[in-house]
Amino acid sequence: MTDFTRPIIIAGNWKMYKTTEEARAFVKELAPKVGNALSQVFLAVPFTSIKDTADAAKDSRIVIGAQNMNDANEGAFTGEIAARMLLDVGARFVILGHSERRHLFHESNAFINKKVLRALADGIRPILCVGEKLDEREQGNTEQVVKDQLSACLDGVTKDKLNQVILAYEPVWAIGTGLNATPDTAQQMHSFCRRLLADMFGQEIANKVLILYGGSVKPENARTLMLEPDIDGLLVGGASLSVDAFSKIVNFQNM
Ligand code: PEP
Repeated sequence: MTDFTRPIIIAGNWKMYKTTEEARAFVKELAPKVGNALSQVFLAVPFTSIKDTADAAKDSRIVIGAQNMNDANEGAFTGEIAARMLLDVGARFVILGHSERRHLFHESNAFINKKVLRALADGIRPILCVGEKLDEREQGNTEQVVKDQLSACLDGVTKDKLNQVILAYEPVWAIGTGLNATPDTAQQMHSFCRRLLADMFGQEIANKVLILYGGSVKPENARTLMLEPDIDGLLVGGASLSVDAFSKIVNFQNM
């Protein structure tokens, strides 16, 4: 059973969907449906909708965040955005190292590590994503890939800052494919990630880190995933675009 002494976070990742008006209306409709949830509700919206959704989410359980940022404080980086700009418009967390950023935009572990350090220094909470591709799993390299990602991306993070980091295990083969990891497979990898964190930071600190599962989460599979002891929440892509589906996932205990 999930250790409910750790807070639960159900996070949505909207990717490149929704105009500002669609985003604002979504938050207004979602807020009353998640008012009594056990979990905190995070929504990673497009940059253009952060301000409107953060305003719409005031006095609700919904926390607004971003899907990416640059590692620099400011500078001549056309098209990029800085942590302090995200904070300025109301974002409180940022997804870093999502597989679409890693594989479509060729972001390396070293670059993601710089972003994690910047996010922690500037006071925006990173959700750090790790996960193996299908061929890596088939070749038996899952644990090595995740270990390399985790240790490289968390390099230089101090023990006192680790509790600000939220980890998301997202097997790439499960993202947007309809193929989710079974609760058993996800649990094995979450427990592996927690062991790695314990090796790096000590068991007591590792026990406090929230580890979310992501990859084709739907209202139908949310509850069984959440029953696993090391799954502390969910990172939801496609199903977070619908108020109905996402509010059911947030209220997974009723499913
Ligand atoms: C994601 O984008 O992080 C994700 C898990 O997507 P989906 O839920 O659509 O698989």
